[in-house]
Amino acid sequence: MHVLVLGSGQLARMMSLAGAPLNIRISALDVDTGNIVHPLTQQSLKCELEDAIAQVDVITAEFEHIPHDILEICEKSGKLIPSASAIKAGGDRRVEKNLLEKANVPNAQHCIIETREDFDRAISHLGLPLVLKSALGGYDGKGQWRLTKDDQIETVWPEIAQCLASGNHQAIVAEQFVSFEREVSIVGTRGKDGNIALYPLAENTHTHGVLALSTAIDEPLLQQQAEAIFAATAKELDYVGVLALEFFELDGTLLVNEIAPRVHNSGHWTQQGAETCQFENHLRAVCGLPLGSTSLTRPTSMINILGEDVLPNEILTIEGCHIHWYGKEKRAGRKMGHINVSSDDNNSLKQTLSRVANLLDIDAFPALHQYTSTLSEYGN
Ligand code: AMP
Repeated sequence: MHVLVLGSGQLARMMSLAGAPLNIRISALDVDTGNIVHPLTQQSLKCELEDAIAQVDVITAEFEHIPHDILEICEKSGKLIPSASAIKAGGDRRVEKNLLEKANVPNAQHCIIETREDFDRAISHLGLPLVLKSALGGYDGKGQWRLTKDDQIETVWPEIAQCLASGNHQAIVAEQFVSFEREVSIVGTRGKDGNIALYPLAENTHTHGVLALSTAIDEPLLQQQAEAIFAATAKELDYVGVLALEFFELDGTLLVNEIAPRVHNSGHWTQQGAETCQFENHLRAVCGLPLGSTSLTRPTSMINILGEDVLPNEILTIEGCHIHWYGKEKRAGRKMGHINVSSDDNNSLKQTLSRVANLLDIDAFPALHQYTSTLSEYGN
């Protein structure tokens, strides 16, 4: 099988690595340059998009912000999986909110803002504090504002107005602030036959809005809730492939924060911690193959490497540690790679994470240090 991935970043790269044993070959569209490239080397394959579409068996996406004209061309070929509408739902917070309402899935109360009147109405209807998010183009906490007090209204509005004026049918989704206790996510796969295979929930910690640490957790009651919400959302989208849902946990209840119609950063732990990783399962689903087991094989955490391109080699001497670099040029805060850390049980995983933290700079890995500093009984 030959699969074209829309987007040529680390997710296409990891799909390529996972697809090779199944003889699934990946080409990737660099959306910025329009070039079809090899997902590992980024070398141009000297092929036009139309030719690539004709040559491959399946087209899929590694991110949701794909220009709509490209999605339409791909959809016309009959090869795009998941569908253009599912991909668009992840790329426009208005569509996403509509979907969640239609699927009857709990989420933070919201209003859509297109004008100053809408802005004032959102404040009086939802109350403060509010989280304001651009409907288009926002991810990893970008394109977001917090409005906590009345005296911020007139300083925040010009920024909102500027964002609205950027055109391209932009809008703002105003959301009630959720005083959540934890952020968790579920990653799962839905096959062409409607069968679903779900991974254990991951508990997530963010640094400046960017995922920093994910750990697979075993909490049956939350898992059940997350699985029911996943099934309702995936069915509403008639989804095929890997889908991720991010949640806020509040008093044992899950509210959906965001959906990602693709393989997801909070599922990278599955490369070492699950029977079949998310990248392989996505390819199996879109290629019409049977889904692989999503069972946890070992308790596992994933540490994101943000803005760093060198790590001490000693990390590789720690049993259960695997480094995955993305081959990207260093930039402040950029996702450069991740470390998966696995162990035989949850206690020894915590001890191993403490050993890893001892080798890493606190300024570069604050979430890991924060997490391991709470594990004082392990003598960190
Ligand atoms: P998002 O891009 O929507 O995932 O938002 C980035 C981060 O902002 C989330 O991981 C949360 O930590 C925080 N956040 C987003 N929406 C809300 C909300 N309605 N209430 C509280 N925190 C939020």
